[in-house]
Amino acid sequence: MAHEEYSFETRLLHNQHKIDPVTGAVSVPIQHASTFHQADFDQFGKYDYGRSLNPTREALEDVIAELEGGVKGFAFASGMAAISTAFLLLSSGDHIVITEDVYGGTFRMVTQVLSRLGIEHTFVDMTNLDEVKEAIQQNTKAFYVETPSNPLMKVTDIRAISEIANEINALTFVDNTFLTPYHQKPLALGADVVLHSATKFLAGHSDVVAGLAVVKDEDLAKRLGFLQNSFGAILGVQDAWLVLRGIKTLSVRLEQSQKSAIKIAEFLDAHPLVEKVHYPGLESHPQYPIQKEQADGPGAVLSFELATEDALRTFVANVEIPVFAVSLGAVESILSYPAKMSHAAMSREDRLQRGITDGLVRLSVGLENPDDLIKDFSQALEEVRAKHLVLQQGE
Ligand SMILES: *Cc1c(COP(=O)(O)O)cnc(C)c1O
Repeated sequence: MAHEEYSFETRLLHNQHKIDPVTGAVSVPIQHASTFHQADFDQFGKYDYGRSLNPTREALEDVIAELEGGVKGFAFASGMAAISTAFLLLSSGDHIVITEDVYGGTFRMVTQVLSRLGIEHTFVDMTNLDEVKEAIQQNTKAFYVETPSNPLMKVTDIRAISEIANEINALTFVDNTFLTPYHQKPLALGADVVLHSATKFLAGHSDVVAGLAVVKDEDLAKRLGFLQNSFGAILGVQDAWLVLRGIKTLSVRLEQSQKSAIKIAEFLDAHPLVEKVHYPGLESHPQYPIQKEQADGPGAVLSFELATEDALRTFVANVEIPVFAVSLGAVESILSYPAKMSHAAMSREDRLQRGITDGLVRLSVGLENPDDLIKDFSQALEEVRAKHLVLQQGE
């Protein structure tokens, strides 16, 4: 049985880089060399210079390409380096149709850097396919999808967007950070380029910043490989190794975190002080059927709203277990406040227009016992209730 036939969980461990062919080592060796000896004037080996190709980074690139079902993977110094380099597939005068609740860093890149280079964009609600079609211009060359989106967990139909893109010979980019190929494989749904902040679930331990891209065909592989080498925002070898190690436990981490996320989402959804829960694992989620169709699970990230920023401040001040931080997709649960963290690059007006209210908080569920988290959230919400009631009595 060839390793390509193994199930996803098995391939996380038993892939083409299972054993180092030179030593038999069961962990990919970290190759620090920046340059490689060449036999003579005319004979260059596979490796010549570390920016162009390095065996440790290459192992990670092979592994992610295989897991996403693409022809080639690329590892970058951060998720933003992967995303920004992929945007260089476009040229001045081109136009991007992009989801409106995109990651804050991507929003900043598109609105403050690409716009300066003559690459135009239109933000749309990607759950509304009519709006997507109406945004198409003669120079539209790419559609940029993030699903589920950050932080409102809106779900975009990847297949439908890819079909719209195909009709006009445009590319479809999908940021697959939230679900990873364990739950969702955008290339199989018609996308051309998959992007990752490997900082999150793929590496999974809040100890490395990394980005990945995978493309579906040889032509794109050549073009993105050229850009990776030209722009040079490559991932370092120690970091590549950390991501490779993290990927080995991807399925068990995500499975456990998702199970807990479902339980916590249901608890929050039933709580009288929680105004709204955004999670594609709830049947009440507006795109629940699409999510079920295109992904194997809803993932481990959700967001929810309390009535006011003040109520949320009380909640966060009283929660004990999760860390309060930027980022997600780690072994420890992480609470973050999009308005001042991931979406700080967005004006308040842009934020509110997108539904990212001052009472919205994002939760990335880690590997703690979910009952401990629920107990913790319960007591913090009781503090909110106490304070809220005191305020009402004082009025
Ligand atoms: C974190 C994140 C990014 C950016 O990745 P970095 O590794 O921080 O550069 C991009 N997209 C999504 C969805 C993210 O969560």
